[in-house]
Parts: sequence; C-alpha cells; structure tokens
Amino acid sequence: MIVGIPKELYPGERRVSMVPALVPTLAKAGFEVLVETSAGESAGFSDRSYVEKGASLARHRSQVFTDAEVLLQVRSPGAAGNSGQIDLESLRTGQAIIGLSEPLAEPTMALAVARRGITAFSMELIPRITRAQSMDALSSMATIAGYKAVLLAAETLPRMFPMMITAAGTITPARVFIVGAGVAGLQAIASARRLGAKVEAYDVRPAVKEQVESLGARFVDLQLKTSNTEDAGGYATTQDESFYRQQREIMAKVIASSDVVITTALVPGKTAPILVTTEMVAGMDAGAVIVDLAAERGGNCALTRPDQTVMKHGVTILGPTNLPSTVPFHASQMYAKNVSTLLLHLVKNGQLALDFDDEITKGTLVSRGGDLIHPLVRKALHTCEEVNQSQ
Ligand code: NAD
Repeated sequence: MIVGIPKELYPGERRVSMVPALVPTLAKAGFEVLVETSAGESAGFSDRSYVEKGASLARHRSQVFTDAEVLLQVRSPGAAGNSGQIDLESLRTGQAIIGLSEPLAEPTMALAVARRGITAFSMELIPRITRAQSMDALSSMATIAGYKAVLLAAETLPRMFPMMITAAGTITPARVFIVGAGVAGLQAIASARRLGAKVEAYDVRPAVKEQVESLGARFVDLQLKTSNTEDAGGYATTQDESFYRQQREIMAKVIASSDVVITTALVPGKTAPILVTTEMVAGMDAGAVIVDLAAERGGNCALTRPDQTVMKHGVTILGPTNLPSTVPFHASQMYAKNVSTLLLHLVKNGQLALDFDDEITKGTLVSRGGDLIHPLVRKALHTCEEVNQSQ
C-alpha cells in the first residue's frame, strides 16, 4: 500500500505531513512512502533525508495523487483554500485522505470530496479521549501556538519580560494576562513564566484554576456565576451575552494593568466571544501588546484583523492565524506523529480495516463510498444549505 505525501501548497504553509524519522515506522507496518520532491524543504527536511529513511521521491505532484492509496496532508481540501480545490480534481475514487479539513466550517467541500468517492478522515475530529491523545493534532498545534504567541508578544513589547536588578536600576517584570487556559493558554502561561513575566490567567472553566497555579501564575477570580461552563468533553460551553458583558466589565481592570494580553478563548463550533472591546484597548498603557489566538474564528478582541498588525490607542494587536507553520520543524514532527498514529490505528496487515464501532474511526471518518457520513458534518451541511436558501 502506497502512502503519498504531497507538498503543502496553501500560501505561507511551511509544515509537511510526514517527517523522515517516521518513514521506517510506516514501512514496518507494510507501507511504501512516496514523497513529492521538496515536500519537506520549508520545514527543514531534505529530499535526501526521506530517501535515507526508505521513502521514494515523486518528481510530479500528479504521481503522488495517481499512485497513492492513502494521502496524508496537513491541509486537505476544506483547509487548503484554492490549492484544495485543485487537489480535489486529482483525487480518485477509493482513495483515502487524512488531514486537517475544517469539515464543520466547510461542509460543502466535505460533500464535494465525498462525491468523488473518497474515504476522508478529518484530524480536527479526533475525539479528545485518553486513547487518542497521540493523534490529537489540535492539541499539538495549540501547544506550538501558545509558545509562539509569547515570543511574538516579547518581540513586539517595548519592555523586557524578566525582572532585573542592575547597576542601571531595577527593571520590573512584564505583566502578562492570558485569557483562556486550554491547551494554548497553558502553554502560553508556561512560556511567559520561563521568560520571567508575572503571569495572570482566567478561564470560564473553574476546573483549570489548579493547572494555572501549578504553572506559577495567578488565577484571576472574576467572581462570575459560572455554572455549566464545561461540557462532558472538557470544552467550554457558550454563555449568554449578559455573561460576556459582565466578564468584560470585570476583566477591564486586569487588562488595563497588563503589558501583554494573550487571548485564546474559544467555544467549539462557535464564533469566538468578544472579550476585549475597543474601550478596553484604549484603557491599556501605550506600548501594550495583544496577541489574539482566536483570530481565525473572528477574534476575542474587537480590533483584531486576521494576520494583520493593528495599532490603536498606542496598543499593538496581532491576529496570527497559522503560528504552528512558523515553527515548521517541530510542528511537522508533532503533526506527523499524530497523523501516522491515526493511520496505524486504521490499518491491519497493510490494508485499511475500518472498525465502525470504534470511537476514533467513527469520530474522524467524514465520507466513504460516495456519501458524507459524519453526523456533525451532515448537520453543518444542512445548516449551510438552509442559510443559502434563505438568502
Ligand atoms: P479551546 O481551544 O476550545 O478553548 C480554549 C480555552 O478557552 C478553553 O480552556 C475554554 O474554556 C476557554 N474559554 C472559552 N470561553 C471563554 C471565556 N469567555 N473566557 C475565558 N476563557 C474561555 O479548548 P482546548 O484548549 O482545545 O481544550 C480545552 C479542554 O479540552 C482542555 O483543557 C481539556 O480539558 C480538554 N482536552 C482534553 C484532551 C484529551 O483528553 N485527550 C485533549 C485536549 C483537550
């Protein structure tokens, strides 16, 4: 069975779905690995390094799409913009594809992939259960985003992060406030602490207080009534507007006294709540920095523009949408581990052997045999069609 690794074509995407070190693992499981020439170059993996580990090289992208029975991508159609649209034409019936594909946000593309007879798995749909932790690409990528957000903030801030007592005077530590202490937020706390900042954090889920404190940060207790803020999967639930209004009012003081605010607050399947208003930005000191990791889903700050640097009231607001790609070596290493673990979970004796009762298989399989089969994606498609009809 041939596993194809196409080069990522999405603008600015530097990650690759497979790293040389994992080629022998796939070979041991009975796969031949076919890598498009220069697929790993922008992540720091040469063609030679893949060949040395036993992979073959395909000179042309079309050869990968023709020969491979399974395609592994970072961004597959749905998450790859125009290049996904082009790849769609190259997919052939019966082929399997595993990648990030945004099926809940782009259900029409998921349907188009289904109609080409593709067995498609979405990495965003990996269930967040202990057994699937090594496949959890969202957590891997959020870890990198949290780390890199702190570096961006440190680079942009006109102050240093650590406290220093020098002959030229005492430098006070930067005050960093992290909103949302999920995977990215906790990593941001740890990274900001390592750089010596004074860190505070808040999350609607009170359960994270202990984790925040164990990383050496102060949990800001907003004294908000927070019942039912967490669903069975450990995710935040959506709150009504009056909750968000109260949250903004109480948080305004903390934000005004922070040098850096890193926002990561998301509710699965929803637009990100606005937690930092224009007035709150105006209340911050000149030179302060906001890094909004929720930018891709609308942003937690009212002034955020995706992938742009906005300067307002002397405050710099950054809205990066693909930070993992800026650390392509380790992002690829982690993603390749996630995707290959899922692939190995799906095969027996070198062939796809799908167990439809298995939570991981069932949870990630979007389409098969010409049909869109994932219930959540079907629901998203239905909603999307209703909206289109009403327009
Ligand atoms: P996420 O990216 O959906 O959200 C980021 C954070 O924002 C969450 O902690 C959420 O509570 C918080 N948030 C939402 N609305 C907010 C608001 N108004 N104010 C402040 N914070 C707000 O979440 P995530 O980081 O992907 O994961 C969240 C949780 O999921 C984890 O902490 C964990 O409990 C669970 N999880 C479990 C596994 C596993 O078991 N394998 C893996 C990953 C995550």
